[in-house]
Amino acid sequence: MSGKVIILGGGIGGLCASIALRQAGVDAVVYEQAKQFDEVGAGIQVWVKGMEALRQLGVADAVRSAGAEVRAHRFFNAAGTPLYSADLAGFARQHETPMPVMISRAALVGSLAAGVDSETVHLGRRIVSVEHASDSVTVTFEDGTSDQADLLIAADGINSMTRCQLFPDVRIRTASYRYVRSLVAHPAPVGQNVFAMFLGRGNRIAVGDCGDGMLYWLVGMKNPTVPLDGDPGRLKADLLRRFASFPEGIASVIDATPADTLIHHTVRDLDPIARWGKGRVILLGDAAHATTPNLGRGSGQAMLDAITLADLLRTADLTDAGQLGRVLDTYSRVRKPEAEQLQRTSRSIGNITSWSSPVMAMSRDVIMKTIAGRRQIAGIERQFAETAAIRALSGESQRPAHN
Ligand SMILES: Cc1cc2nc3c(=O)[nH]c(=O)nc-3n(C[C@H](O)[C@H](O)[C@H](O)COP(=O)(O)OP(=O)(O)OC[C@H]3O[C@@H](n4cnc5c(N)ncnc54)[C@H](O)[C@@H]3O)c2cc1C
Repeated sequence: MSGKVIILGGGIGGLCASIALRQAGVDAVVYEQAKQFDEVGAGIQVWVKGMEALRQLGVADAVRSAGAEVRAHRFFNAAGTPLYSADLAGFARQHETPMPVMISRAALVGSLAAGVDSETVHLGRRIVSVEHASDSVTVTFEDGTSDQADLLIAADGINSMTRCQLFPDVRIRTASYRYVRSLVAHPAPVGQNVFAMFLGRGNRIAVGDCGDGMLYWLVGMKNPTVPLDGDPGRLKADLLRRFASFPEGIASVIDATPADTLIHHTVRDLDPIARWGKGRVILLGDAAHATTPNLGRGSGQAMLDAITLADLLRTADLTDAGQLGRVLDTYSRVRKPEAEQLQRTSRSIGNITSWSSPVMAMSRDVIMKTIAGRRQIAGIERQFAETAAIRALSGESQRPAHN
């Protein structure tokens, strides 16, 4: 490989791209606007494909030991009636893959940051403009200084200024429900190493332990009564009211959470976009394919983007525009179908799990107990089977140490 790469954004995607490119022998520098890696956002589930990607990046053990394996998914209605459950530990054993991991975002980003070459990551460097010519791309920082490279990997998230510049017609879509999330020291209501979701009418809550006695919870709610910047105490009171009749232990999780740690926000995603780059700019992660978080798989997609792209760049001459065009085409062809499928599926799951009419919510529960639940479980098992195939292709199919 010859040529230089700039990675715009030191989030999950940008950090993974930095590690993957270093492994591929590609010279890359990361510019991140935050002054330090102090990622907020409570917890995150790194799905099985994400854990396999992290294994290839050499950081899976660090992530696993800083979080908690997710050995089962269990879904219930608001009365606590089981709808379906998936035995992830069984799938991992059967397919010889890693297990998903629930972890605090701070610990995940910390583990990734520990895996990058610190000299190549520049914090507190906000890029305010990107100019591309046929033979180079130039980024300018807010202090007026600039840097130049042969390729810009834009990992600048859903609000990506790079994507807005390349494709001004792409619109961010806002879902009809909001999320509130937090992390609290509290026992897991449905047991350790279980991700559980309780579906009500327009209100749902997911809980999963992140290890060290910390529990991540995430509420999806329709018809919010407290504004986004409203008083956190009022928001907490509203949540306690919404979840008062849910099974024992749920309201206590909310009650134990300090109001000032609640993160309250809209839920946004993108429609699939036609191209994931242009000329000397390639989009990665949420910048290319932000998805609603209903399946907890977005970060894994960014990790897979990073590995795929680094592999394609390993032998490319970045000074050659023709070669770069072929890299972009192959990267898009390999990565787009899965990322776009996730965008669509996650959006429809978000809609169905937010149904608030009693009749629709009741029919949803019946469907989830039967056909939809079985489909979900089969889809989850397919993810483990596909992960095993990715693992085999990566040239190492040995059984993971934790199995
Ligand atoms: C509520 C919620 C829950 C989620 N839960 C899960 C989950 O459980 N599992 C999962 O896999 N995924 C989950 N996701 C999705 C996941 O968070 C994203 O897919 C992932 O963070 C994408 O990483 P990224 O690096 O592409 O973007 P980001 O994480 O957004 O990172 C972009 C980075 O670019 C930097 N940046 C932006 N603009 C500039 C600029 N101009 N100059 C310099 N730096 C810049 C930002 O500061 C940021 O650090 C969730 C998302 C949300 C919103």
